[in-house]
Amino acid sequence: MPFPLQPDPSIAARLNDAFRDPAPAQRLKLLRREVPGRMVFTTSFGIEDQVLTHLIAASGIDVEFATLDTGRLFPETYKVWAETEKHYGIPIRPYYPEATSVENLIAAQGIDGFYSSVEARKACCGVRKLQPLVRALNGASVWITGLRADQSSHRRDMDFVSFDAERGLIKANPLLDWTRDYIAAFVAAHGVPHNALHAQGFLSIGCAPCTRAIRPGEPERAGRWWWEQGGEAECGLHVDEDGRLVRKKAA
Ligand code: SF4
Repeated sequence: MPFPLQPDPSIAARLNDAFRDPAPAQRLKLLRREVPGRMVFTTSFGIEDQVLTHLIAASGIDVEFATLDTGRLFPETYKVWAETEKHYGIPIRPYYPEATSVENLIAAQGIDGFYSSVEARKACCGVRKLQPLVRALNGASVWITGLRADQSSHRRDMDFVSFDAERGLIKANPLLDWTRDYIAAFVAAHGVPHNALHAQGFLSIGCAPCTRAIRPGEPERAGRWWWEQGGEAECGLHVDEDGRLVRKKAA
């Protein structure tokens, strides 16, 4: 029986159980079959997001492709964006920061003010990522992401499917149990377009001034906001209103 129109936590729990065994392509089809309404996949063109784009495009299911263009992305990211649209014949809708908010941000903290403090960095991510994300997900019933459990210790305990109470939608991570090696093998086997920076040690790629290549033995996300103490920072897209990563509920 299809789920009711309004997503809620019980739907998320049932889908989370249903996600355990199927492959990611079947998970996507299950989502589409069981949850009505607008389904949005937000891609940053990282390697796992490219795999999801491939799977969604191959399945032909009705999912909107969206990306948050912060205005500070690498040239290589714009290149893979264009290659992806051409390769799969899909439009990827961009969401931009609101112009006045960017002007006020830079007037207040300077063009690279995010290096000055965690608060300044979060203010920049807020204007350039979080506010556009609100518009990207406005009216959506499902938000699909390329999060993987082995990306960081913070992400290890996440669910396949959870209810995002703040946004009132289902959040689904169909690649949660895929490893980095498995993702890389899939990309090679299927000729998936990917960012040239991955081969230069940029395993996780965000904004250019806030991303560096990692050194041998460093965690995958060590190159993100590397100057901040404590490591494994998040931009805020995947944290709750109290700033915590949305994780698996205690049994
Ligand atoms: Fe700003 Fe850096 Fe966050 Fe990009 S990653 S939005 S440049 S602070």
